[in-house]
Amino acid sequence: MAGSPEAVAQAARLLLDGQIVALPTETVYGLAANALSSRACTAIFKAKGRPLEDPLICHVLDANAAEQLAVLTPLARALMERFWPGPLTLIMPKRACVPKIVTAGLPTVAVRSPAHPLMRSVLAACGLPLAAPSANPFGYISPTCAQHVWEQLGDRVPLIVDGGPCALGLESTILDISGPHPAVILRLGPLTAEQLEPVLGFLPQVAPKNAPMGPAGPVGPAGPAGPLIAPGLLERHYSPKCPASLFSQMPPVDTRPHACLFFKKPAKYLPSANCRVFWLSEDGDVHVAAQRLYAQLRILDTLGLQHLYLQQAPGADGLSSAINERLGRACSGNIAENEGPSD
Ligand code: AMP
Ligand code: MG
Repeated sequence: MAGSPEAVAQAARLLLDGQIVALPTETVYGLAANALSSRACTAIFKAKGRPLEDPLICHVLDANAAEQLAVLTPLARALMERFWPGPLTLIMPKRACVPKIVTAGLPTVAVRSPAHPLMRSVLAACGLPLAAPSANPFGYISPTCAQHVWEQLGDRVPLIVDGGPCALGLESTILDISGPHPAVILRLGPLTAEQLEPVLGFLPQVAPKNAPMGPAGPVGPAGPAGPLIAPGLLERHYSPKCPASLFSQMPPVDTRPHACLFFKKPAKYLPSANCRVFWLSEDGDVHVAAQRLYAQLRILDTLGLQHLYLQQAPGADGLSSAINERLGRACSGNIAENEGPSD
């Protein structure tokens, strides 16, 4: 349903009735439900096929609404003041009203204030905090337009509100400020460590995958049991069904039908007849590349090819690191063997 006052009203009605609704945000489309209702949130897990150990992010209008769900420190308030509404999810100690199913039994809750005007209208109209993971079957590529949601979850969701293509195209940055350890990034995203630094007073580190937190930060290796504290526990995530591998300069020679997804339009690449060539941005603009990444991966996945070669974004910081993290997950870390000569 196209985003309109009627769509907002209908979404709010369904959410107040304990149902799930797919809604646009500036990061990716979310599958939303009343965050205060275990029953409503159970429906999210069911529709996505998401394991119950994977906690949900709660979406709220502002810091005041966040305070109903979490215990806010002065640092939390400063981060909200500077970056909300926007693509920053904060992990904070939870309040008793947040059901266990939302946090996978953790003593902390993830909260974000989305910027998309339609999502904000729905939040205002229903007056509820909304738990909303990406609106895709668990493990598959996140949806960045309403059509993506329709294709995969159309028969499981009573309403999909169309808010156009997502402006950012990558899931939010997750920052754990639940203390006593220093703030640490659990998931790279559109808001970079460099942007967070002035408010934190230091450049935040990225937590090793699923490492437990000690007073000084992440400690020890990943534990096999317990809830996922970062989406990195599962190597394969954000993944196309077609096998894929990464390359940095030039893709390897491959005799099978395959596709190459370049970061930037390649200047002098002459593909073989069995190779389809795509690129994320004409001129290497990292924001454009991030915005188009998931839609491109979905297109590549529909071509019936035998392999996908995905070029890593240049550089290791900022948005490039968030893109590369997603690309790595899409490939389960496969690196193309015998990478071709650079052009
Ligand atoms: P998404 O699948 O985009 O909704 O992202 C949800 C992710 O947020 C989960 O996979 C967790 O990694 C992270 N998350 C949610 N709640 C918590 C929490 N209380 N502590 C740590 N990470 C969390
Ligand atoms: Mg997701």
